[in-house]
Amino acid sequence: MAKYDHYVDGEWVAGEGEDFESHNPATGETLGTFPRATQSEVETAIEAANDAAEAWRDHSHVDRAEYLWEIYHELRDRHEELGEIVSMECGKEIGEGKADVTEAWHMVEWAAGDARHPRGDVVPSEIASKDAYMRRKPRGVVGCITPWNFPVAIPFWHMAVSLVEGNTVVWKPAEQTPWCGQVIAEMFDDAGIPDGVFNMIQGFGDAGADIVDGDVDTVLFTGSAEVGHEIARQVAADPAKNASCEMGGKNAVVVTEEADLDVAVHSAVMSSFKTTGQRCVSSERLVVHADVYDEFKRRFVDLAESVAVGDPLDPETFMGPVVDADQVEKFHRYNDLAREEGAAVLVDRADLAAEEIPDGHADGHWVGPFVYEIDYEPDLRCLNEEVFGPHVALVEYDGGIDRALEIHNDVEYGLAGAIVSEDYRQINRYRDRAEVGLAYGNLPCIGAEVQLPFGGVKKSGNGAPSARGVIEAVTERTAWTLNNSSEIELAQGLSADITTEE
Ligand code: ADP
Repeated sequence: MAKYDHYVDGEWVAGEGEDFESHNPATGETLGTFPRATQSEVETAIEAANDAAEAWRDHSHVDRAEYLWEIYHELRDRHEELGEIVSMECGKEIGEGKADVTEAWHMVEWAAGDARHPRGDVVPSEIASKDAYMRRKPRGVVGCITPWNFPVAIPFWHMAVSLVEGNTVVWKPAEQTPWCGQVIAEMFDDAGIPDGVFNMIQGFGDAGADIVDGDVDTVLFTGSAEVGHEIARQVAADPAKNASCEMGGKNAVVVTEEADLDVAVHSAVMSSFKTTGQRCVSSERLVVHADVYDEFKRRFVDLAESVAVGDPLDPETFMGPVVDADQVEKFHRYNDLAREEGAAVLVDRADLAAEEIPDGHADGHWVGPFVYEIDYEPDLRCLNEEVFGPHVALVEYDGGIDRALEIHNDVEYGLAGAIVSEDYRQINRYRDRAEVGLAYGNLPCIGAEVQLPFGGVKKSGNGAPSARGVIEAVTERTAWTLNNSSEIELAQGLSADITTEE
């Protein structure tokens, strides 16, 4: 069994803390042993990043991007192999494992290509002899803390732009996917990135907290609301730091009386069950108009009864396992809670039947769809709290699109949502009033393209840690004004005369 290291200041460093193992969620097999970073190891990584910052910012954007182009090619060349590693380590079916790698090279391409685009603004001055500009500078050291469910794509959302903009990084992969972290660190090493510019430490939440506490200028975080809010609060207390956090949601798909039900059912199944409900954009609420409710329910339930749960490396699989035992426990706990709150259960494959578990996978973290209907009440916990699993509520509504929106928006989260309707007025009303950062019309509530901002409103986040959103978080602006005259003239009619005492 391979034992891996941290990557700090251009070296592979054996950790001094305890070891932990990464397991394949489909089989229970151990994939590798990793060191759990201690506080002093995190501090050493941050110090290395600070020491490297000055020289790195002296490179041009284009030169910095060259290292990322190396990685872009490697991600493409190793697509199949890396897709399998993603599937093996986090349990996503192989199509999604490969899509994770594709999204990563899209992000790298965006960031490295952007190095040749104009940056900043040329701004008119009211004084003709002055040139005014908005210019950007790197903030310095960026601490990146990422989750397990997109173990290759999300790290590149955080790091590709940060590096091209001239920051150095300290990154902690999720404790569930350290092997993906290892592979990414090997790529930076192969690309010959200067020592200290990219640092990766393995570990758990305590190591993440040490990054947040440490001498970093910006924190980029993607993960749970609970942790993200704590980070946002902590960083807000230090005026020299900023944080951009993207958290989960209690997302909904609205199916109106004008919906094409083929689109509605297809969208709902994709939104609720893809990635076994473990995307931050997965939808756990389906808000369906009374006129189409019975037919939608029948068709959705039929598919939920039959979607293929199985070996993530089998291309016929639709849903792999959930990531770990904690996630299985949470899923069952929320299914029980829904029952206690009055749910009528429609599909219960929560304890997957033994014959559905593929051979040799008995130690995997298997669950299947759990679908119920429930009368809408604003305070039901099962309609408000994120489960992060294939736990889906059908909620019937009567009335116009505003009633659907009322239910849709009645959660503290605001990450993603979708509407299915053939009526453009309903669609546009939804577009304008849905309280979410990502919204889809006649599509599943799924999918991120790197050139779009990705982030939520309300409890789901601040900032949008992908593409251009990251530029805001990892740079600071300078308003730069240059006088082209030998006379000093000031704006707003302010006198430039210096009067002296006689
Ligand atoms: P998830 O529910 O997706 O596992 P978490 O928020 O628990 O989400 O984890 C996302 C990332 O945040 C992981 O890398 C994890 O180790 C890290 N993390 C967990 N707790 C903390 C914390 N208190 N401070 C900083 N990072 C943390």
